[in-house]
Amino acid sequence: MERLQTRGPEIGICNICGLTERLTDDHVPPKGVPLVGQVYLDRLSEALGAQKPTRQARLFQRGVKYRSICAKCNNERLGQALDPTLVQFCKDAKAAITERLYLPSDIRVQQNKLFRSVIGHLLAHGLGTHKAGQFIERKTEYFLKLDQPFPEDLRLYYWVYPYKPQIVGRALARKELIIGTDVVIFSLLKFFPIAWLCSIGDLEGPDAAQVTRVDHLATPNIEDFAHLRINPSYIPAAHWPEAPGGNSVVLHNRLGTIAIPRPPQ
Ligand SMILES: [Zn+2]
Repeated sequence: MERLQTRGPEIGICNICGLTERLTDDHVPPKGVPLVGQVYLDRLSEALGAQKPTRQARLFQRGVKYRSICAKCNNERLGQALDPTLVQFCKDAKAAITERLYLPSDIRVQQNKLFRSVIGHLLAHGLGTHKAGQFIERKTEYFLKLDQPFPEDLRLYYWVYPYKPQIVGRALARKELIIGTDVVIFSLLKFFPIAWLCSIGDLEGPDAAQVTRVDHLATPNIEDFAHLRINPSYIPAAHWPEAPGGNSVVLHNRLGTIAIPRPPQ
């Protein structure tokens, strides 16, 4: 298998703002999100009735990084303005899952910052993809214009993800064969304790019934707050939706790369 290229040129076009600048590493997950041990995750997934983590999953611990965005996008737009909201949301979600195992909890959060942090990391994934196609272009406009509502033709979903593998995917496509849905194009950001998915088209199928759609909570005021529900009773399969199930196909190509951190050498 071809080795995934994650080091862009030292100076190049920023994936997000499009300026030619010195490029910097985007880290997924961002620093500060809760780190958990395998023992905790084993106990948690057993208690939640989630799939048993595979042995392979134990190896992935170091995160994914791409040298793909300029210092301003990385340090100011993401790091200072947005990532603290994502980090706090992950901490609150972990506490909610740990303390109220079977009960839903509502987390108060600045949703417009949270969503943009997620979208920013999705945009940073890959090299030389500034506004490459409509899907990325719509996310880029949303990320950069802080007074924009969520793009009408896109969807944003999240769910509880009690697993160790950290997965970033961009421009994958999935189709449910038995129920005959349209092809859904999506990008994906999965790390404990929450997974995110941005798509063109509505997710369908049994696993999709376990996830929460949130793009309608976005508002034009970046300082607004909303409540996001964490419901540990609903957990899709560990490798959904990047792996096909019995009744579905998933299409990947070079643009649709999935990055999984390499195990420590
Ligand atoms: Zn930039």
